[in-house]
Amino acid sequence: MRLFSLVLIGFLSGTALAQREVRLSYTQVTPNLFMIEGAGGNMLLSRGKDGLFLVDDKVAGVTEKVRETVKAIEPGEIKFIFNTHWHHDHTGGNAAFRNEGTLTVAHRNVRERMTKKNEVHALNRTHEPSPEEALPVITFTREMVWHYNDEEIHVYHVGNAHTDGDSIVWFKTSNVIHMGDVFFNGLYPLIDYSSGGTIRGMIKAVKRVLKDTNAETKIIPGHGPMGTKWDLMQYLEMLEDVESKVRQLKKEGKSLAQVQAANPTKKWDEAWGKVWLKPDEFVAIVYRSL
Ligand SMILES: [Zn+2]
Repeated sequence: MRLFSLVLIGFLSGTALAQREVRLSYTQVTPNLFMIEGAGGNMLLSRGKDGLFLVDDKVAGVTEKVRETVKAIEPGEIKFIFNTHWHHDHTGGNAAFRNEGTLTVAHRNVRERMTKKNEVHALNRTHEPSPEEALPVITFTREMVWHYNDEEIHVYHVGNAHTDGDSIVWFKTSNVIHMGDVFFNGLYPLIDYSSGGTIRGMIKAVKRVLKDTNAETKIIPGHGPMGTKWDLMQYLEMLEDVESKVRQLKKEGKSLAQVQAANPTKKWDEAWGKVWLKPDEFVAIVYRSL
């Protein structure tokens, strides 16, 4: 249910978003949970008696728009921001919010990576170390449970999946799960093998998440529209099929170009290869992550 919005941002400067019109929109997921889309990874906002809690905070250039969108949903102090992983389109608002007193939380590998220069070879990008104030203030290693806003929020690390610092944020009471970039809904996913991501880890993580779902579960992907258990099962089927085909061809000694020429993703390209990564790009990522 799309209740409202389209926040026109106008023109930004100094970032990759320069000269682009950016819109953020939000969707009410449950009475107290809202998904915020546009300009970076999907965010989730929890409101309630304890205060605002955000999952991820998009790219740095749209922090003002994030603030306005949150305020339109529920005015109040943003107490916590949880980062699902280190990528700049999920942590870009950290420094600005931290300077206003928000506490940032993430897996310890997220903080560790943000202190260093990171190459994302799959996209030919380099990210400089983040400033001190952007680093998560609280870190954890395996799992933790928040008792917050009349909700049990289970957070757990899923190993080497999209990166080596991915967390799943399960709003157990509400039956809503934010998967960060472990789930791209309707588009081939990035597996950041330079940050420790692996296709097998993605598959394992998706199987782990599926255990906590039922037909009513609402699943927020890092990118793409909100999904269901069924969408996640389709995604798993695609990942497993591509992984097994690429692995087999690689085992036979085929080069990347030969594997790409064999079209191992053919049956999935129509549904998954039109929005972002092209089939050959996804095959290259899978091949290199194996
Ligand atoms: Zn990411």
